Amino acid sequence: MGKVLIITGGSRGIGAATARLAATQDYAICINYFKNRKAATAIVNEITSNGGQAIAVAADVAKESDVTKMFQTVDQELGTVTSLVNNAGILETQCRVDEITADRINRILSVNVTGSFLCCREAIRRMSSRHKGKGGAIVNVSSAASRLGSPGEYVDYAASKGAVDSLTIGLSKEVAAENIRVNAVRPAFIYTDIHASGGEPNRVDRVKESIPMKRGGQPEEVARTILWLLSEEASYVTGTFVDLSGGK
Ligand code: NAP
Repeated sequence: MGKVLIITGGSRGIGAATARLAATQDYAICINYFKNRKAATAIVNEITSNGGQAIAVAADVAKESDVTKMFQTVDQELGTVTSLVNNAGILETQCRVDEITADRINRILSVNVTGSFLCCREAIRRMSSRHKGKGGAIVNVSSAASRLGSPGEYVDYAASKGAVDSLTIGLSKEVAAENIRVNAVRPAFIYTDIHASGGEPNRVDRVKESIPMKRGGQPEEVARTILWLLSEEASYVTGTFVDLSGGK
């Protein structure tokens, strides 16, 4: 069976690094993006010009109809999904809880939590032996923020990742006997654009002295763990978390 991988938020950062690495491991890849078609197309072109198979699909993971359509596109263009990386995630400008608004909380939760749930649902409908599927693996991209709480920066984001952790635990048990493994990575302080959306593009360099390893991480370091969790090398691993936070 060919390996078909959907990476949400695959156009930039950790998702893009995961797509590049997956392409060297014979996955046919759907690179989902939200708005940045140029970045998504550039990754697809890079993969296909090296002989790999990839498509870019625009979808807002927070929108049920977008998610359903994206999985149908993958069915038609790449085949039945075998692997899902729930990587799309957002945060907003650093603020304290005493400044937060309901709209902001709901925006964060709808992408980070609802989006992950919806993509899991569509994947399970195709992977589960209950639905005559042939199995698969899911990796959720959580964050060390679920443990650390992100005080003074984005407690709403941290709480959304706490929900992703609970999703990982519950779902892994729900589908363990249906030939689906569900795990999560919990990165922190990775050099990507996400810190600019928090209002501090150089955040990793500011905090790096507080990290036991005294450095930030690279997206490729997260990608390698994601690909390992998806692979047969991790065949008895489910419901677990790998922290990629330099010891923090
Ligand atoms: P990034 O560089 O900001 O990239 C975010 C990606 O998500 C982009 O591909 C973006 O698409 C996509 N996206 C945003 N909203 C979306 C939506 N509604 N629907 C579909 N795609 C959407 O982020 P990153 O740092 O690589 O983060 C990836 C994941 O790692 C996130 O879940 C984040 O919480 C987690 N994480 C990151 C760090 C870190 O230090 N970087 C630490 C812990 C956890 P467009 O390009 O179209 O905008």
